[in-house]
Amino acid sequence: MNVVLLGPPGAGKGTHAAVLAREFQIPHISTGDIFREEMKAGTKLGKLAQSYIDDGHLVPDEVVVKIVAERLKRPDARKGFILDGFPRTIPQAVQFAEILAAAGRKLDAVIYLETPPEASIQRLSGRRVCRKCGANFHVENIPPRKEGVCDRCGGELYQREDDRPEAIRERFKEYQAKTEGLVAFYRDQGMLTTVDAGVPRERTLAELQSLFRRLG
Ligand code: AMP
Repeated sequence: MNVVLLGPPGAGKGTHAAVLAREFQIPHISTGDIFREEMKAGTKLGKLAQSYIDDGHLVPDEVVVKIVAERLKRPDARKGFILDGFPRTIPQAVQFAEILAAAGRKLDAVIYLETPPEASIQRLSGRRVCRKCGANFHVENIPPRKEGVCDRCGGELYQREDDRPEAIRERFKEYQAKTEGLVAFYRDQGMLTTVDAGVPRERTLAELQSLFRRLG
């Protein structure tokens, strides 16, 4: 099952992908998570990525494409993947198609999590992330059992630098300018399935689960 989750910041891509990956036993590959890991470890890639990410800008295509190409070669991705946050530009999507074709693979579905801007902003501004395991919470929608502490690993919860209001504004601008066009790009190829992500999270997840069962 080779699936891409598409949608604006705050659509719930990461939250849903984490659940679906566990349930369907395929890796959840988030380019944002990969960058945050590198940033935490203070690597050269992390330092480069941070200069874009903290201000809400996109990391250059050639950097992201290389990372995804390498990640997809790992054995766990052989039986499938859920990509969250990639591709984010048309050039990324074009190069991604070439990478898959060269490996004799193809995408099974691109799922567009359609989300009204108010829902996205509410989710981003209240989001909290575990420093240790990367799990996502929300101060109102998905509160941790103990404030500031990850339910899963006990790690400390923090607010992402790019979830500040100025960075959120910039991320939406980037989304509209560079990512939104992918909806038409994949729709024209007959690959797009739209799921309503403006409704309570459980309903979106149920729809995604039944879609995945049909794909699998
Ligand atoms: P995310 O966790 O998906 O919200 O990603 C966080 C940030 O990482 C984004 O705002 C971008 O700066 C960067 N990023 C993640 N994926 C990509 C991508 N496919 N292309 C460019 N930048 C990306």
